Amino acid sequence: MRPEILFPLFRPITALKGVGPRISKLMEKITGEHIVDVMWHLPTSFIDRRFSPTIAEAPDNTVVTLEISVAKHFPSRNRRAPYKISCFDETGPMDLVFFNARGDYLKKQLPEGETRIISGTVERFQGILQMTHPDRIGKIEEKDEIQTVDPVYALTAGVTNKTMGKAIRSALDHTEELTEWLDPAFKKQKKWPDWQEALTTAHHPKEEEDLFADSPARERLAYDELLANQLALALVRRTVRRAAGRPITGDGKLRQEIRNALPFDLTDSQENSLEEIKADMAEPLRMLRLLQGDVGSGKTVVALLTALIAIEAGMQAVIMAPTEILARQHMETIEPLLVGTPITPVILTGRNKGKKRTEILERIASGEAQLAIGTHALFQDDVEFANLGLAVIDEQHRFGVHQRLALAGKGQHVDVLVMTATPIPRTLMLTAYGDMDVSRLTEKPAGRKPVDTRVMSLSKMEEVAQGIGRMVSKGARIYWVCPLVEESDKIEIAAAQERFEHLQSLYGARVGLVHGKMKGTEKDAVMAAFASGEIDVLVATTVIEVGVNVPEATVMIIEHAERFGLAQLHQLRGRIGRGMAASTCLLLYGAPLSENGQARLKIMRETEDGFIIAEEDLRLRGAGEVLGTRQSGLPEFKLAQLPAHEELLAAARDDVKLILDKDPELQSPRGQALRTLLYLFEEDATVGYLRSG
Ligand code: ADP
Ligand code: MG
Repeated sequence: MRPEILFPLFRPITALKGVGPRISKLMEKITGEHIVDVMWHLPTSFIDRRFSPTIAEAPDNTVVTLEISVAKHFPSRNRRAPYKISCFDETGPMDLVFFNARGDYLKKQLPEGETRIISGTVERFQGILQMTHPDRIGKIEEKDEIQTVDPVYALTAGVTNKTMGKAIRSALDHTEELTEWLDPAFKKQKKWPDWQEALTTAHHPKEEEDLFADSPARERLAYDELLANQLALALVRRTVRRAAGRPITGDGKLRQEIRNALPFDLTDSQENSLEEIKADMAEPLRMLRLLQGDVGSGKTVVALLTALIAIEAGMQAVIMAPTEILARQHMETIEPLLVGTPITPVILTGRNKGKKRTEILERIASGEAQLAIGTHALFQDDVEFANLGLAVIDEQHRFGVHQRLALAGKGQHVDVLVMTATPIPRTLMLTAYGDMDVSRLTEKPAGRKPVDTRVMSLSKMEEVAQGIGRMVSKGARIYWVCPLVEESDKIEIAAAQERFEHLQSLYGARVGLVHGKMKGTEKDAVMAAFASGEIDVLVATTVIEVGVNVPEATVMIIEHAERFGLAQLHQLRGRIGRGMAASTCLLLYGAPLSENGQARLKIMRETEDGFIIAEEDLRLRGAGEVLGTRQSGLPEFKLAQLPAHEELLAAARDDVKLILDKDPELQSPRGQALRTLLYLFEEDATVGYLRSG
């Protein structure tokens, strides 16, 4: 149960000043629905209104606070002309300018003959100082209130900075000092303020430095968030560890058969990973291991051999993929390998309905199906296993933490192998997995040639479209990826359709189109035609991004490459260079290219190492953008900024180790305070993992 002291912070934001039902709907989009979310919405900059010169001294294009006398109102003569008010002080005259003004309102705010305080940006127009729409207008006695520093917040349409600022001040009024959860020596060493003070300070920047990630107030708040994250992960992990596992060892016969049937030898990394997995599974603890391997590094065969360990031991295994296409592709790879063995895999996806589905479920429940391949359809409540021993989750970052936990609940003792193709930067790994065991596939299967990557302007598109004709006639198979359109899949699909038609007009029936809104069966048919070589050019939206394997494809063309994230480009490029032939990747960009865009495309040209690319992506874009964090299942931080706060993350991890060594159930006074911290960052579920939680 959430401690009472936090109740006010979890009230809806409509409890805040100036936030009614209409504003709250808008504000929620950018902050969140609780007061606590508003509290975490830190300013991005500030407006300094402390400078208060005379009219004569006021420099152009600066924000000033002026004490002025109102001389005369000049209402606008027509709708387009501005409403002017001439004012002065002892050093000279100035004009206030308003568009679409309401005269009666202005007369009340700025009565002729009175003195007023105004604040806003000034400029000179034909020699006369002018302020258009002052930000603040007040009476002399309000000068102290006006002549301050206003925090500036990220906003959303319909919510002004004034409204946001007011709501946030009101949110801060709901806070109380909380019992300190930081280690006193560490806090002292860092010179960090108390929690409430940190929050107040962070919302009242006075200097540039106050906005920096390394300001004491921001550091402290970030550390709190990271500490909660690391503590929560450690508790989940400990619980998983505590749930007894079963030692799973097979006799190796099936594995040997399959290895004999493979047309290649395993790489050293594949062998090492399998050894690590085998050792984990043989332990009476539950396995929770991450297999990290770049695209094309050969994770599927590791997954299959891992599944066979469980099957040899008389148990069932599942292999889960994030999409229908990938699940089917796994099935297509794995099924032929199992011919001649007693294993008949089943596939279960969202596409299986009615009688067919019931039939599959029966085979899973009876244990007849030793291997089930599928999508998250395998998670559904009515899917029961006879004796599930192992779950392999492929391309895991698409699933998210909650689904992973749901799966862990499916079989009490299930060993879990999580596979990810997107190399996650080390920093982010820690936030998503804590210190989960990791196996890495560091080398590509033998015989791969590097991809020749070129960057060119979209203005060359027609030449490229013509040029691929030569490649096709030499037998090349080509991916043509159409731009990502964030605002609308409709536009995205229309663009792909148009490109498809154009290329078809050049190359006839040898061009195919696949996009996200197509029916599953249609998609499969097109993909199959591309895989078999019936079509040579596949126009696609990003649906091909993950995992699709057509080793014969050697050319990848990406339109508006600058709109894609680095991780995404890397994934896409990973579709080629899979066979023995040399491959080419063309990154077409729309001019003008931003500096950041230039840097990103340069990295793509320079390296194919997914880990380097991931680290660079993090450095260039920040954690929020990497991998499209929202869909990635990686945690989103509101206060911590990665990589800027990377060192704090490591410190938090170490802190958590010490905390749980000394006080495993968080019962000491500091332990109690840390429980509050977990609730503050909405890690309620993990408090349940504590004894007497
Ligand atoms: P990913 O790690 O991206 O899932 P896949 O498992 O799809 O990679 O493997 C990519 C391709 O490499 C497949 O065609 C697979 O058969 C092949 N492959 C896997 N391991 C090896 C190996 N040791 N030697 C040669 N080819 C391999
Ligand atoms: Mg794969």
